[in-house]
Amino acid sequence: SVSLSGQKVGVFGLAKSGVAAIRLLLAHGAQVTAIDARDEAALGEVARELASKGVTLALGPTPPGLLEAQSLLVVSPGVPLTLPELKAARAAGIPMWGEIELAWRLLSHVPLIGITGTNGKSTTTALTAELFAKGGGRTFVGGNLGRPLAEGALTPKDWDTLVVELSSFQLEGIDQMRPKGAAILNLTPDHLDRYESHEAYGAAKARIFLNQREGDFAVVNADDPHVMRLALQAKVPVYGFSLMGLPEPGGPKLAGLAVARPGGFRLDFLGEAFALTNRALRGSHNVQNAMAAAMLARLGGVPREAVQAGLDSYPGLPHRLESVRMLDGVEWVNDSKATNVDSVLVALRTFAGNLLLIAGGKGKGAPYEPMVEESRGKVKTVLTIGQDAPTLATAYEGEVTVEACGTLEAAVRRAHELAKPGDTVLLSPACASYDQFKNFEDRGDTFKRLVQAL
Ligand code: ADP
Repeated sequence: SVSLSGQKVGVFGLAKSGVAAIRLLLAHGAQVTAIDARDEAALGEVARELASKGVTLALGPTPPGLLEAQSLLVVSPGVPLTLPELKAARAAGIPMWGEIELAWRLLSHVPLIGITGTNGKSTTTALTAELFAKGGGRTFVGGNLGRPLAEGALTPKDWDTLVVELSSFQLEGIDQMRPKGAAILNLTPDHLDRYESHEAYGAAKARIFLNQREGDFAVVNADDPHVMRLALQAKVPVYGFSLMGLPEPGGPKLAGLAVARPGGFRLDFLGEAFALTNRALRGSHNVQNAMAAAMLARLGGVPREAVQAGLDSYPGLPHRLESVRMLDGVEWVNDSKATNVDSVLVALRTFAGNLLLIAGGKGKGAPYEPMVEESRGKVKTVLTIGQDAPTLATAYEGEVTVEACGTLEAAVRRAHELAKPGDTVLLSPACASYDQFKNFEDRGDTFKRLVQAL
């Protein structure tokens, strides 16, 4: 635990988790200074609310000496720790925690399951929480997804288990945070804008193992060579999951293996088989997510029947291969979260064929060729929307028919005309949404509204 009463604490970065950290600090009687490069006009309501609660605001350029005058700094995941003023404060010996570490200090009596990786974090976190909840425990779910952990720390007696999605930025800000169960799902180049190298990005993820001790466990993707290398840093038993049943060499000796099989998976170390018939978990990527979640839950003490019940009842997350509607034998699927080519590949691999693909938006500059390759023989027509439509059309030229629709509304209308019974209309854009929508949620919600109105 930690004593915050009367302490001078600076909170750097006033997004969702920063504001949650401030509420927690205030509840514990800390003297809070809120620091953000944005000005009062940009922050709006948040600035007024904090000021009314007695928080000192330091907006705009950070005043010299301000950080050094604090006894603790809580730094938001969006703020690079390499900022000159943060470097200076660190050199002056001011402890620097992320919001996760702060919340953990008040929750260290509750077992925490931490989940990180490049892709599948949210799905695995939501599913793992479902399994623990089916086991009867009072389960907090949040972190990088949904509610900040600091919100859970406001009512520390409410929880039997914490299931927490952890980004690499959040893992940079931990000090003593100790997950009972720690999972790394996969590691592909991402956020290389903020990290100097793939190694540095991996090193941030591996911090999830940093404070684990006897009685804890690690769960890793045994098919991913990068993850297996990182798993060498774990000091606790490591359990792997594999689609092939052949763990990548070069990793730690595994304490147990989960292996996919038709219609489900097996936990070889427990001799248990689980069925995966839930449509919210279709696709081999979701088999991986389900194996990870089931291992975290079983090793965390959830009974086998509860794990199976949770796999069956998991409702899925919106905008990730979300089945919207069956209409005249056509399934409409919202995969608006697929903002890059890799995610579209995952989506395309989930279906056997007969697809009408709606794609486009604000492109990220990555080549579309892998997507064209995966579309061959599976996608009947590509209906494009948004800014990057011409680039998509060029990539698909001579491979799959492309129709430029411009807007999502026109694409839905055209797909409705073209689709035959047995077809699937898939919105999986491979692009960001900002050219036509507020964010991917807005794009997915718009799609769902249009489809429901057909
Ligand atoms: P995250 O929170 O890490 O972004 P999500 O669960 O929201 O993960 O999934 C985001 C996208 O990543 C999905 O739309 C899907 O395309 C892809 N995905 C999900 N799980 C996996 C996985 N295990 N491996 C690779 N890709 C995945």
